[in-house]
Amino acid sequence: MSLEKSEAIVLRAVPWSETSMVVTLFTRDFGKVSAIAKGARRLRSPFESSLDLLAKSQIVFIQKSGDTLDLLTESKLIRRFRSGQVALLPLYCGYYVAELLLGLTEDNEKASELYQVSDQTLVDLDRGQSEPETILRFEMQVLKLLGHLPTFHLCASCGNPVQSDRNGPGALLGIAAGGILCGICIAGQQQVIRVRFPTLDCLMAYASEEWNSNPLPIRTELRGEVRFVMERFISHLADRRLRLTDFLEELKR
Ligand SMILES: [Zn+2]
Repeated sequence: MSLEKSEAIVLRAVPWSETSMVVTLFTRDFGKVSAIAKGARRLRSPFESSLDLLAKSQIVFIQKSGDTLDLLTESKLIRRFRSGQVALLPLYCGYYVAELLLGLTEDNEKASELYQVSDQTLVDLDRGQSEPETILRFEMQVLKLLGHLPTFHLCASCGNPVQSDRNGPGALLGIAAGGILCGICIAGQQQVIRVRFPTLDCLMAYASEEWNSNPLPIRTELRGEVRFVMERFISHLADRRLRLTDFLEELKR
């Protein structure tokens, strides 16, 4: 049992008792943490609005050992996620950020860089940055930082360079294999999709980009295919189709 402090983003808050909530927080210093917030459901909650979804707060919590939930003792709001007051798309994108972090990160596994990327993504959505680019950059960084970045140059199965006919219909990506496939390895692979080369180039550019750089614009005619590829990779990793995917159709336009 130890008293800890960190910055945190609120990913989820569910009622626990008549007066308490269980909150899942993505912290800068301790990764994903679930804690009981006593009194959080009271009219005059000691936490005020610091536990609203996607709020960024400075927290103090008692870390318990084993399976026992941690105990949140203090939380002070640093920044609200305001996108919901502006439009639905940035709001859904914010919820999607939370769902991805909930689905793909492990409890209590430190992920400071991913915290920074998530924090910046929410700021960018709040600032009205273009959502298709902001979300693709976030997804690629999540995959990269969790060690699941698809390979786009070398065959995901044998590791040899893939010679593609650029005049052909496109490259073959193995979703389960984790990237592009060569002509030999394609046999027997499941979940293979064909992707046009301009889309592949766009995905490769995002895969090699730094998270704090300005993302390059995604051409409108590639957006549908970009979403299709990312949805497939992420559903495979999460073992299910993410709920918010259905609310992000506008990213394809
Ligand atoms: Zn191969």
